[in-house]
Formats: sequence, C-alpha cells, structure tokens
Amino acid sequence: MDDLRTLRGRLAEISDLSRAAGVLGWEQRVSMPPLGTESRAESLATLGRVIHDRFTDPEIGRLLHRLSALEESLDYDSDDASLIRVTRRDYEKACRVPTELRVEMTRAAASGHHAWVEARKNDDFASFLPYLRRNVELKRRYIECFEPADLPYTALLDDYEPGMTTTEVRDVFATLRPALTELVRNAPEVDASFLHGAFDPEAQRRFVERLLPPLGFVDGAWRLDPTAHPFCTSFSNRDVRLTTRYRHDDLESVWSTLHEAGHGLYAHGIADSLMRTPLGGAPSLGVNESQSRTWENLVGRSRPFWTHWYGPLQETFPEQLGNVDLDAFVRAINRAEPGLIRVDADETTYSLHIILRFELEQDLIDGTVPLDDLPEIWNARMKEFLGVDVPSNSDGVLQDVHWSGGGIGYFPTYALGNVISLQIWAKVREALPDLDDQLAAGDLLQLSDWLRDNLYSLGRKFTPKETLERLTGSDAIDPQPYLAYLSDKMASLAPA
Ligand code: ZN
Repeated sequence: MDDLRTLRGRLAEISDLSRAAGVLGWEQRVSMPPLGTESRAESLATLGRVIHDRFTDPEIGRLLHRLSALEESLDYDSDDASLIRVTRRDYEKACRVPTELRVEMTRAAASGHHAWVEARKNDDFASFLPYLRRNVELKRRYIECFEPADLPYTALLDDYEPGMTTTEVRDVFATLRPALTELVRNAPEVDASFLHGAFDPEAQRRFVERLLPPLGFVDGAWRLDPTAHPFCTSFSNRDVRLTTRYRHDDLESVWSTLHEAGHGLYAHGIADSLMRTPLGGAPSLGVNESQSRTWENLVGRSRPFWTHWYGPLQETFPEQLGNVDLDAFVRAINRAEPGLIRVDADETTYSLHIILRFELEQDLIDGTVPLDDLPEIWNARMKEFLGVDVPSNSDGVLQDVHWSGGGIGYFPTYALGNVISLQIWAKVREALPDLDDQLAAGDLLQLSDWLRDNLYSLGRKFTPKETLERLTGSDAIDPQPYLAYLSDKMASLAPA
C-alpha cells in the first residue's frame, strides 16, 4: 500500500499545480487587464511544463508498474482500482508525445490565437493561413505518436472523447445529417420578435442569479461573473466558477447561464474522494456537454420549467413580455432557424454546424482539401447544409476559435453531447416519473440529486462508454432519442 500512498501523494501535488494554473486561466478571462497577456502566457507555460514533467516522471511509471498486482486484487469499481487504471492510461498517452513537439504545439497555439483574433477582426483569411497550416502540420506529427484504431483523425478525437473512433462518429452523424436537414427544412415559422429588443443587463443579472441556487449549488461553493465568452471552470467540487454574458438586446444570458451551470453542477457533484486525483473531472467532453445541454435545453426550454419561471421573468421585463403568453414564449425559445454562426444556433440546426466542421477537419488532416481553398469550400458547404449564404470569412470559416489554438478533433463532442443528453434523459424520465410536475412547481432538486448520484459523482472513474453503460444499460451512442425529441419539438411548434 506504500506505493499507492506515494502515487496518491504525487498526483495530489500535480492536481494542486493544475488548480493553480486553472485560477490563472480563469482570472485571465474574467478580470486581467489586457496588457497582462504576455506575462500570463509565460506563467502558464512554466506551470504547464512543470506539471507535464512531474506527471511523465519515470518514477510514476515504476509506481504504476509495481501497482499492477494490487490493481488485480481490487474491485474494478473501487476508487483505488480506477485511480491506477486511469492514471496508467493518461501516463502512457502523455509519454508518447516528445516534449519538443508539445512545446512547439503550445507556441503555435499561442501565436495562432493572436493571428486569428486579428484575422477575424479584419476579415482576412490569408493572414491566418500560415498559422493554420502550421497547426495542421503539427497535428499530423502528433498523430504519428499514436497508433489510432481506425483512421488518423481518431488520435485527435481521443484527446477529447477517449475511446471513441472516427468510424463510430461518422456512423452517428450519417444518421443525424439527413434527418436534421429534413427537420430544419420543414421547421414551422415562429414569431420570436419579442425576444429581441432592449433588455437591461442588470435586470438579466438579477434574474439569472435567482435561477442558480435552486439548481442545487451549495451556498458558498460557486460564483458567477460576466465575461465576453461564457465558460465554466472549477478548482474543486467546492469552488465552481461560472461565467455568462449579458447582451443589451436579447435574453441569451438565461440559456448561456443554464448551459454553464450544467457544467458547474457536474464539477460540483464529483465525489469528495476523487478530489486531488486525475479522477476529479468528467469522462469526456461529450459526456460533460451532455449535461450543459440537459440544463440549457431539456430543462431550460421546457414548458414545465417555464410554467414556474415565466411569471418571474415577466415581472423582470414587464414591457417586453407582459403581453406575451407562456405558449408564445415557449414556442419562440424552441424555434428552428438556419443561421451563419454556430454559437448562436438553435438546438435543431446546431448539430449541422458541427457535422460540417467534423467533415472538414478530416479533410484537412488527410490533405484532401487544400488549405487555400478553405473559405470557398466552407461557403459552399454552408449553402448545402443550412441553405445560407456566407457574406464574409469573419462570419464564415474564421468564426470559431478552435483551429487557431490547434483544437482539431474537439467539435464532434458538442453534437455527441446533444445525442448523449437524450440517452441519459430517457433514464431520468424512468427514474423520476413526476419530473414535469416537479419542474412546474419550481423543484429542480430531485433531478439535480439524481444526476449527481448516478453520473456526476463518478467523476472520471470510468471511460465514457462504461459511464454511459452504467446509466443506460448500453455503451452505444444512439442518435434516435435525440432525433425523436427534435421531431416532437418541431411537431409541437406547428400552428394548431
Ligand atoms: Zn459547454
């Protein structure tokens, strides 16, 4: 047991360093003055190097090797067995990538991000092209460090969705794409004009701050700050940082706050016993995203939820919503409308934006799409997928931050999150047959507690598929519940 205690001690220190880096990252995005960028990048790079060196220290490998015998004697589900198993997987992956390549990737990501900000501002794809080319080249070298199960792209996907193959994602998306295209094409027109207008940001802030405690956050364990691009991070299950954005002309802060709160509830619900270990997170981005989508959409766009909350919202914005009844409001927040921008997309069109990016990313890695032609190909596919004309590269191929920082392989997790959210939701419905009544009465705690006990508390003890199987009885990613949900939604929007 001494080896296990030693391993735990080393991992706890590494976790403390990661938390410190997390605080620096949060502060950078929430309150750092802009000229602090350079010194912050240096601090984060140093911390990143120290963390990587400590984790890939051969002594960790020796400890894991010696712990194999103990691992076999332990219950597979125990915290100790999971710790050894998951740490070994992380360790073997981390050791495959040479330090020199890692440093180059970090540097290329930083300069790529800077170039992207400028290129997007000036609608100038050509100025971004060399940086994108560099990131793609480095990703190809990164892929060579691994032996992907099926296609090269799987090595990139694995960083965000461990154990998932490109072939599996292609299969899921092959079902989604035609079905979603059909739904979007036949989506009823819905009046949502009242959702655009003057909405006082301060009043929005007061409203969303009322929404958060009933979701199940313990007092003193979270905070909410305004930021340009909403995100959520946490430094333990008792220190959850939510951010949101208050725009002057719409109510998107409500759903963006619920989205980040879903990520926050996940972090908040991880078992105490997993803190300061590599198990103190979610099994994958897709599983994590399934919960932000659950709170944003499955709860936050449902009629039962608004049966309770629409009154308070009307009282907050009597001029804008006083004459809009609950039915009209619920229809408006559930409408489907093709648009240019992924982050503004509604639930139904959203995954089409993702499938387009997933296909393009594979083409970029394979080299089947020349990088110079990317804007034209983007625009042609937007027309094909969503029927929209792209007026500028800023609102087209340059709209997302991901590729600038080398985040290739990340996009599919958003759509997988949508799909997984409905697979889990089916189980929630079985477990809580009175859920709609609870939501309509403003009681969110039974839902929140069930998700914590059955999902969030497990942290990263199991792979994404093992986690899904525990919850739903199957480890397959099944798009049907998601499609049925959207199809019911579109039917409910049709004029009576
Ligand atoms: Zn999210």
